[in-house]
Amino acid sequence: MTRAEKAERIQKILDRLYPEPPIPLHHVDAYTLLVAVLLSAQCTDERVNQVTPGLFAIGPDAEAMARLPVSRILAKIRSCGLAPQKAKNIRALSKQLVTERGGRVPESFEALEVLPGVGHKTASVVMSQAFGHPAFPVDTHIHRLAARWGLSSGKNVEQTERDLKQLYPREVWNRLHLQIIYFGREHCPARGHDLAACEICGWAATRKRIAEEAAGRKGRAR
Ligand code: SF4
Repeated sequence: MTRAEKAERIQKILDRLYPEPPIPLHHVDAYTLLVAVLLSAQCTDERVNQVTPGLFAIGPDAEAMARLPVSRILAKIRSCGLAPQKAKNIRALSKQLVTERGGRVPESFEALEVLPGVGHKTASVVMSQAFGHPAFPVDTHIHRLAARWGLSSGKNVEQTERDLKQLYPREVWNRLHLQIIYFGREHCPARGHDLAACEICGWAATRKRIAEEAAGRKGRAR
């Protein structure tokens, strides 16, 4: 089976399992999504959804957030990983949006990626989920699954993003990245892989890849 045939078959399975994958982070506009995505680094979406109502109650938009001291932002997000740095970045990016963009979130990769704490993945999520532009945000889960399924031999997330974008038409990128995230969350156990029981790995995974991962885990445990 070619890589393209494999990609198509995987997409059909994911379309059946997750016909309309919802956006996992609660938000009401591009600004609240941007802040939620920034918070989601090293933190579960569930945790982010727990803290954002309290945060957005005191900082519902860039103007209001920029007026808050970092300590008040930190107090609302303390249970998220890397909270002190995130609190500083949330205030700094809000200030920058107010002074340079009239308080609005820019609709471009370049303008998003220069904001404090915003990298290519965060910008991709905002471009995709807030503005509907085709983007393929690749996190470590998508990176790992794309390698297991033989869709990419990328050594890093940048290469995986390029491979997936080549394999799939632009119109499915926004849906597909969410579908792969949901599949990984719901199907991939933290340890061990029962290839036979898995709807995709059962036929798509290269055993060589699984063996390599298992060897890598053993090596790291030593
Ligand atoms: S075999 Fe394991 S890692 Fe591979 S997709 Fe299935 S559940 Fe995930």
